[in-house]
Amino acid sequence: MAAKIVVLPESLSSKIAAGEVVERPASILKELLENALDAGATDITVELEKGGRGSVKVIDNGEGIESAEAPLAFERFATSKIYQFDDIYKVRSYGFRGEALPSIGAISRVEMVTRKASSLSGARVIVEAGELKSIADTGCPVGTSVLVNHIFDPVPVRKKFLKTEATEQGYCMDVITRTALSHSEVRIRVVAHGREILNIPATEDISERISLVLGTDFIDHMLPVKGVKGGMTVHGFASKPDFTRSSAKQLYYFVNKRFIRDYLLNHAVMTAYRRLIEAKKYPAAVLFIDLPPGDVDVNVHPAKMEVRFRNPREIYDIIVETLVHALADITPASSGEKGRTMPEGYGERVQEALKRYTVSSGSGKLFFNKTLTDYPKPRLAFGQIRENEASRGPAKEIRAEQEIPGRVQNFADLEYIGQFTGTYLLFSSSDGLILIDQHAAHERILFDRLKMEAARPGEKMMSQRLLIPEVASLSPGEFAVIVESMKVLEAMGIEVAPFGENTVIVKSVPAILSHVEPKKLFLEILEELSNAERTLGLEERQEKLFALLACKGAVKANQKLSEAEVMRLCRDLDATRFSSTCPHGRPVYISFSLRDIERMFKRI
Ligand code: ADP
Ligand code: MG
Repeated sequence: MAAKIVVLPESLSSKIAAGEVVERPASILKELLENALDAGATDITVELEKGGRGSVKVIDNGEGIESAEAPLAFERFATSKIYQFDDIYKVRSYGFRGEALPSIGAISRVEMVTRKASSLSGARVIVEAGELKSIADTGCPVGTSVLVNHIFDPVPVRKKFLKTEATEQGYCMDVITRTALSHSEVRIRVVAHGREILNIPATEDISERISLVLGTDFIDHMLPVKGVKGGMTVHGFASKPDFTRSSAKQLYYFVNKRFIRDYLLNHAVMTAYRRLIEAKKYPAAVLFIDLPPGDVDVNVHPAKMEVRFRNPREIYDIIVETLVHALADITPASSGEKGRTMPEGYGERVQEALKRYTVSSGSGKLFFNKTLTDYPKPRLAFGQIRENEASRGPAKEIRAEQEIPGRVQNFADLEYIGQFTGTYLLFSSSDGLILIDQHAAHERILFDRLKMEAARPGEKMMSQRLLIPEVASLSPGEFAVIVESMKVLEAMGIEVAPFGENTVIVKSVPAILSHVEPKKLFLEILEELSNAERTLGLEERQEKLFALLACKGAVKANQKLSEAEVMRLCRDLDATRFSSTCPHGRPVYISFSLRDIERMFKRI
């Protein structure tokens, strides 16, 4: 092909440029909302048709645009927010690139109506596919309304990438949620398809806003957090460890009020919660990070969803320290008064996190001017994880199996009260109330048995031959993993053999897991083996697998147990060497002494 370099005509280049800013209706909405906020609006109405695929309209009561300047807003790089390059490191406004309106105008039809308070009449500007179609005087309220429709008509192929109305509306609502969280002072109303679906009044404080936007359930599980370091501040709310999510979607970060996604910040948050929440779970948080505009470059991403920090390490530190500090304040003793008890071992793990973090950040001292000893030592009922255990890595934590002084010795002797929410078994003892997590308990029993059987010298684990062997066809990579692990598996009572190209046959499973669907079990094992770090020793790998098998084989939550089954569980629990936590480190049981209960009821 004879390629020649040509300069693209403006009509074409603007459409290409628009692609960077306008991905979908939600991106249009984001730009319009930011313009409204930059104009100082305190009241914003959003109207969506067909989830934004039909049209997006934003009406604000901001300062408006001078009639004569209104068409200029659609010129590329026309902005009222900066005048020279360096200004972008000082701006506090969302916009400054002067790109949004021309980009939106290039791929749709835009009708803007705007008036300044000082003008008697306003202007109506219509732009279609990048061309100014009309401009006229009009009577209108002070502020600006921008209606965008015929979205992607000039670039029909982009339409194909749009999702269903419901999905697109979901994206729009995400944008609205973020805006509402960062601007409590602004009233926000959303009308979809002619029906009002959201109406959030201006609120004075952020917690009220959060409960209006994310629900009261959400805010009920949140702790206020606050930290200051140098010119930076962090404030907001973060979830208590008992409120976890299965994705990082509810981690909201606002840097100078701008919503951003950031790997570093996610990592910092996860570090603070490490060992306080289960693996593969995420906390929720709404964090506002404020720093001098010069310390953050927002001009690195077309939609400004990512930023670059000048001192990433400092941001990281302030986030971890702030969260760890807030989490340390909920000790079992203080939360018990509110009728809640944090999982046993919780307080110590927090202490450990504080220690670990202070040491690793090299400051030696927390910036809150508190030393570690200032934090109240948590009072734990019994069976807590021992001091040094808290510092072990997750793989080793499974080994915690020594006798714990003060543990309940005889579960079988306790008086069974009943099952609560199909998940917890309630018992009364001579001096209190005991709750057993049936899944965690059973998991612990199975784990112990698997380990004991594996430890018997010279004897193979009891396995159950499958009547009909399972055949699994795998990817070449998975096949290699299984072949490599055949010995480990065999020692665990799982007999696997190669069976043609990239195919294996599963012949037996551990006898105590014969009630679990073998294929499912095998696939879980495969996943665990594929994810396991190659550096793990044989024993550690086996322990991880035992933990997995125990989890799969154990009774689930929300499963009704007969009294006979409960008794059996108690006897089995009595026979285990360590019954205080499940193999993942979650508590098997929690107890409230009579004194605890009486104190909660303020009897003593
Ligand atoms: P930027 O926001 O980067 O400056 P835009 O293309 O989004 O660029 O907007 C261009 C200009 O139009 C803005 O600088 C502002 O002066 C004006 N403008 C756009 N929307 C509004 C609005 N809702 N209220 C007041 N002025 C607006
Ligand atoms: Mg803008």
